[in-house]
Amino acid sequence: MAIVHSKALAETIKVDRVIDHIRGKKRGPTVVFFGGIHGNETAGVFALKEVFKELRSKEVMINGEVYAISGNLGALERKQRYQTEDLNRIWFQDRIERIVNHKKIQHNEESELGELFYLLHTILDTGTPPFYFMDLHTTSSDTSPFMVLNDSLLNRKYASNYPLPIILGIEEYLKGALLSYINELGYVSLGFESGQHDDDKAVQNCVEFIRYSLAVTQVVDVSEERQKQLYEAISNSSGVPHKFYEIYHQYDIAPNSDFKMAPGYANFQTIPKGADLALVDGMELKSTKKRQIFMPLYQKQGGEGFYFIRPIPIFLLWLSKKLRRFKVDHILVKLPGVEWRDASKDTLVVDQRVARFFAKSFLHLLGYRARRFDESHLIAKNRESVSKFKEYEDTVWYNK
Ligand SMILES: [Zn+2]
Repeated sequence: MAIVHSKALAETIKVDRVIDHIRGKKRGPTVVFFGGIHGNETAGVFALKEVFKELRSKEVMINGEVYAISGNLGALERKQRYQTEDLNRIWFQDRIERIVNHKKIQHNEESELGELFYLLHTILDTGTPPFYFMDLHTTSSDTSPFMVLNDSLLNRKYASNYPLPIILGIEEYLKGALLSYINELGYVSLGFESGQHDDDKAVQNCVEFIRYSLAVTQVVDVSEERQKQLYEAISNSSGVPHKFYEIYHQYDIAPNSDFKMAPGYANFQTIPKGADLALVDGMELKSTKKRQIFMPLYQKQGGEGFYFIRPIPIFLLWLSKKLRRFKVDHILVKLPGVEWRDASKDTLVVDQRVARFFAKSFLHLLGYRARRFDESHLIAKNRESVSKFKEYEDTVWYNK
């Protein structure tokens, strides 16, 4: 249990690991919300409390089941992002195995991970598909609400139901996130960032996001008119074009380096060439080109200073859908310098000395996540092969 305080609402509540859980009488999906994976981001926890209270007091009919889960209980109580290590950067297979199987736990966040892991797999074992996972966050800078997701066609299609900016490809930069772990199990999983940590609008935006998500996933039946109202509420909360964006740069703060973001940047802001970005160990860091800035860091804890993003042209979104659907990768392996790593055919090894046209951006279009293996080789893993498309086939949103 943790006692959690919201500065924005001047309110204190008690929450357990499972904030609430409602199982309906009728069959339906399993919808899971996480709040407070970062302990200084309490908006999601308060919003979940409010929506579940509403579901219970109005005796709303639930199809399937819906969960509200709190993330980093220890850090929530201490009003910190984390205590020893960021709980949203440690979801690696080998690490999870050590924590869960060998019970060798090094610090608070590892025991939080252990509890969340056990709960997550209990939900997957006992719940009925389709499964949805949504992780509620806030940012240190001022921001219009937005969604972040791993770039799979399933995630893209689900997210297109929301009138919000959608940021793809964060998993290439940010390693060990809970949502990436779940996405690699093949389920729809996405993050929602509802506003600045201590802004009361962040709680309200989150409440509206949860209500609308209950309708889109069909865990709650709503009239067409009500669904439109919920859609409008989300649309009105956003001051940024509802496009798909990709991240193309992350500024990593070096260990022991003193990073101070230049003041006054809002998320999604476009900045000119030569603008002051940050002070790094007393040196000014300037933009070398016109940029669109994303998630500038205005808090002490956190290892990523800022990102650059750009809108993805509609043509490329369409093209990548076609390339993935028609499994163009299975033709490309016939070219010199491109081969499967093994018989599972989900990982490519690319020798760039031979296959020069195989840039990372091209692999992204094909649905691969690429990393450099050595000077001349890229290793790229397919994100599409694990997606559980079949489980979502009968939903309204999938057939739109
Ligand atoms: Zn967060």
